[in-house]
Amino acid sequence: MNSSIHGLFLAELEAFCKEQGQPAFRAKQIWDWLYVKRVSSADEMKNLPAPLRELLADHFSFQCLEKLETKGAPGETQKLLLKLADGELIETVIIPAPRRQSNTVCVSSQVGCRFGCAFCASGQKGVVRNLSAGEIVGEVLEVAKMLGGRPDNVVFMGIGEPFDNYDEVLRAIRILNHPDGLCIGARRITISTCGVVSGIQRLADEGLQVELSVSLHAPDSEVRSRVMPVNETWPLEELMAACADYTAETNRIITFEYTLIKGLNDSEAQAHQLVKLLRKFSCRVNLIPLSPVEEFDGERPDAETMKIFLETLEKAGINTTFRDSKGSALKAACGQLRARRL
Ligand code: SF4
Repeated sequence: MNSSIHGLFLAELEAFCKEQGQPAFRAKQIWDWLYVKRVSSADEMKNLPAPLRELLADHFSFQCLEKLETKGAPGETQKLLLKLADGELIETVIIPAPRRQSNTVCVSSQVGCRFGCAFCASGQKGVVRNLSAGEIVGEVLEVAKMLGGRPDNVVFMGIGEPFDNYDEVLRAIRILNHPDGLCIGARRITISTCGVVSGIQRLADEGLQVELSVSLHAPDSEVRSRVMPVNETWPLEELMAACADYTAETNRIITFEYTLIKGLNDSEAQAHQLVKLLRKFSCRVNLIPLSPVEEFDGERPDAETMKIFLETLEKAGINTTFRDSKGSALKAACGQLRARRL
């Protein structure tokens, strides 16, 4: 199977052209066809000589995924089920923000996930394989095709743990971010991790302005281990130390995700514990009421309990947003379209 052309850096395309006896400027033309005009075959690259078009078609794949199913209507949140060249399935989500007139695409980074968070459908059957950078970029291009333009934001919150596929995710980000291509600003790209400390440490040294979001879901290690097995590998204390180093090194604000689950992590005392944990951080907190999924029998707290939790954080000066439905529901439900077909 040919590798995806969307996984190459511009410099690698230049090297390919050079190897084939073509001038370097051809690579820039190809890049433009791929990411500005967004064609889906070498044949459509009209300003390239026919032999080069043939070479490209022989060496690379231009379409590494196929859309099998779309849930939701245009203009609303839409969830796509995509089939990869080897038959594996992933999900990609389009989340429009009509007031801001922007669209966010939530991409998968792996087929399945090995982290097994209790409330997430994606991790229930383990990981099958990593996605290549070309496949990840392919998700964004598929969405661009549907929207008739490139999306404004990309979040790595779909199936998989991005730091468990670090190299391909970072490669994809650099391709998406390229100023002569899709040009999606680094600050408009969010990596969301369940708490893979080694990934946070590596990212701190990349010199990239991407956003980092860390899923906490509990204010102490004991409760966290009950819903997030990753806490056994990287306990909360270690995670928070890595986050502190990350903010010190990069000067960037981390967003902490906290899913509120009735009777597990939603008490006022736990809100105070969370305040204590985050007080020294310059951070944001997203509070997300649990969206019920078949795989987990937890429930969302009642409105009053959530209000008290939110106010406790706000009173302590922590920048907190309450996020219901859309992305949050989709996060909990992420992997369900795929799971239905397994
Ligand atoms: S929430 Fe993320 S890390 Fe946890 S199982 Fe689901 S995909 Fe994996």
